[in-house]
Amino acid sequence: MTQNKDVWVFIEQHDGQIQDVSFQLLGKAQELAGRLGSRVGALLLGRKMDGIPEQLNGFGAEKVFVVDDPALEKYTTLPYAKAACQVIKKYQPEIMLFGATGIGRDLAPRVASSLKTGLTADCTELEIGDYETRKAKYENILYQIRPAFGGNIIATIVNPEHRPQMATVRDGVMQALIPNNPPKLDVILETVLFDAADKSVSVIRQEIEEKEIDLKNAHIIVAGGYGVGSSDGFALVHKLAHAIGGEVAASRAAVDAGFINKDHQVGQTGVTVRPKLYIAVGISGAVQHTAGMQDASKIIAVNSDPEAPIFKLAHYGIVGDLNDVVPKLIEQFKGRKN
Ligand code: FAD
Repeated sequence: MTQNKDVWVFIEQHDGQIQDVSFQLLGKAQELAGRLGSRVGALLLGRKMDGIPEQLNGFGAEKVFVVDDPALEKYTTLPYAKAACQVIKKYQPEIMLFGATGIGRDLAPRVASSLKTGLTADCTELEIGDYETRKAKYENILYQIRPAFGGNIIATIVNPEHRPQMATVRDGVMQALIPNNPPKLDVILETVLFDAADKSVSVIRQEIEEKEIDLKNAHIIVAGGYGVGSSDGFALVHKLAHAIGGEVAASRAAVDAGFINKDHQVGQTGVTVRPKLYIAVGISGAVQHTAGMQDASKIIAVNSDPEAPIFKLAHYGIVGDLNDVVPKLIEQFKGRKN
């Protein structure tokens, strides 16, 4: 069987709406394919897919492999895994990327195990490079990079001998391309035969809970940490966010302490954000937090500890008690508005 070098992305769609993470992964896939001298493919599964592949135009894929079948109307594990495995086995991509979403986290391990290959979850970076052991040298393989051992090291994981090399990446970690003169997108229809066993689970009802906050698209974020001290203390963070027209975020320590709910958590196990301005208040700057906000255009940190690691990342640092500093900031911003 000949292996091609193409880089594929599993395209996640909900009722025909392609999810942001899929566009972001196509952007990364194009970069990786550029290094490999190969092409980007997209794998799209669902029902009534007419017109859906065209949403991908200009985002990096040259070919979209579509399985359109009633068994794929709502996501269930078995039919999706069967369809994905069949198409991947047929075309043999070198690399296969999934979003680390609820669906991606369910599907990718099934597919990896069925194809007898490896999978690295929640990668924060993907690169192409060489790898050498005492016995062999492998060229142009996928470096699957992610924090490990509680974030104490950044591990580069490789899967040199099995294909495809597979990884999941969380929403917001990679960046989508800005569509520009898209080449023609080839749509290739594939047929998969499903049997009764594949359809043993059916979706009776689906309830989607809307998140109360959209941190991913916020231009200004004011984030509070454990140093804020209490949920009442977070009123100050809310006031600053309001004064400056921003959204409120938090560290995991603040979420775990019950100061604010988890939808607000930024970091490795929260949301990845890229605002124009990120104000970190009472946040120490642990690597698991900064993994989710280090690409902000401007970072301001307020912390009473001059040695806090957040100051290494911040463009502007204010050493002081947040209870003194934040009210002054609010006054300043209010003054400017008026
Ligand atoms: P702390 O580290 O306790 O820092 C509080 C800061 O507030 C200190 O720097 C202190 O000097 C300052 N402070 C205290 N009082 C005041 C005051 N009055 N005025 C000014 N400053 C003050 N963390 C995340 O944030 N997001 C994640 O997604 C995440 N994922 C994780 C995943 C794993 C697998 C693990 C192991 C950890 C994860 N963490 C995550 C936790 C992370 O390691 C840190 O524990 C957490 O980020 C610390 O939050 P913090 O900075 O608010 O609290």
